[in-house]
Amino acid sequence: MTTQKAKSPSTPHRPSQGNRDFRNRAKRDRTSSDKQKNIPRGAAQFYAGDATAQPGIILKSGREKSLLRRHPWIFSGAIERVDGSSASGDTLPVYDAAGSFLARAAYNPDSQIVARVWSWREDERIDAGFFRGMIAKALAMRTELKLADKSNGMRLIHAESDGLPGLIVDRYGDVLVMQIGCAGPERWRETIADILYELCKPVCIYERSDSDSRTLERLELRNGVLRGTLPDNVEVIENGLRFNIDVVSGQKTGFYLDQRDNRALTDALAGDKDVLNCFCYTGGFSLYALRGGAKSVLSIDASAEALRIAAENVTRNGLDGSRVEWLEADVFQALRTLRDQNRKFDLIILDPPKFAPTAAFAEKAARGYKDINLLGFKLLRPGGLLCTYSCSGGISEDLFQKIIAGAALDAGVNAQIVHHLHASADHPVLLSFPEGAYLKGLVLRVA
Ligand code: SAH
Repeated sequence: MTTQKAKSPSTPHRPSQGNRDFRNRAKRDRTSSDKQKNIPRGAAQFYAGDATAQPGIILKSGREKSLLRRHPWIFSGAIERVDGSSASGDTLPVYDAAGSFLARAAYNPDSQIVARVWSWREDERIDAGFFRGMIAKALAMRTELKLADKSNGMRLIHAESDGLPGLIVDRYGDVLVMQIGCAGPERWRETIADILYELCKPVCIYERSDSDSRTLERLELRNGVLRGTLPDNVEVIENGLRFNIDVVSGQKTGFYLDQRDNRALTDALAGDKDVLNCFCYTGGFSLYALRGGAKSVLSIDASAEALRIAAENVTRNGLDGSRVEWLEADVFQALRTLRDQNRKFDLIILDPPKFAPTAAFAEKAARGYKDINLLGFKLLRPGGLLCTYSCSGGISEDLFQKIIAGAALDAGVNAQIVHHLHASADHPVLLSFPEGAYLKGLVLRVA
């Protein structure tokens, strides 16, 4: 097993770009009349209503439509006024302009998404009983669909798509990692932790509420043990492969659980092949390729720490390390170097970070996707397979396919789609919340 270090990576596409998008939206939403009335940005971009009235959010006429379709977000621009004097994290009823009840939602005046819906029922109280019911439902769905059969690593709560906006809970064996993204679940943090501790009986609940997006909600960043004790070694066994999970400082909550089924597909495709795994993180796709009998696996990532864990994961599984090479490099550069060296592969995996968190970044992201996929096509031998992914919420499945078609055309190859891929079933997509369908993948065979 060899590890190389290339020139320091420039990592041109960072997930944190999403913050800028929301800041731009904040500017756009501040109308000239707001400016004239000298309403400060952030705290009150809508009109404060009658402070002595019953607390509630009243929407502008016509702005109830997305709620009637059960989309759970209420943007500042949709709000006519907020009655009562409420604080961030409070649950407020939401009414249309005519005063009809629409939903109960968690309020955050500091966010562009001023409220996120907890419930569509007027008679539902948002209390510990509500959270117990919702968490139990999410757990029952995963048990019913037998999602734990393949792995002891699983997403237990997938935020909006499990009816709990802003709350993510991932399970890694006996350890739960909780990530709170907005003011609603922040208010109920202790209650949620108690319920998870009681229902799941983990040895530890670790909190990774340290994503950049929290600053947009004016919430402090948090990283630490919430309940129990964190074991020295956190591990998942996924389809029989062991992965070390760094819950304290790994990416997301420590692992990319959403790619579980797609990684398993690599196992079946890799036999006797020269494999290139770009953006390999802790070696997910590489380990499956090795187990699937790959002749060689070149794995590239910009993170030295991820590569260290990846190499350790090979040993942990007793796999043949002589067939894998780890390269710390910027993939955009490394693909060009491989092209110039006239290197060829039979199977290439491209699983980059989020280039476009929202549609506002789609154009720039499209250039990034086209670049790496064009180079990927050029590095394939005839009959080779390209497994290409996008986890950008701002790039639709349709647009992604068009970008890949453009890349194939410019690379001068004919390719067929042989698989359309998505996130695993523990990342459900609520029909009324299409934003939940962020991960898409294509497996293409070059003629
Ligand atoms: N395929 C992985 C997950 C990939 S996440 C799995 O199944 O576990 C994206 C990875 O891209 C991260 O590990 C990050 O460190 C890496 N990365 C981000 N920008 C990069 C760049 N420009 N060059 C190389 N790696 C990069």
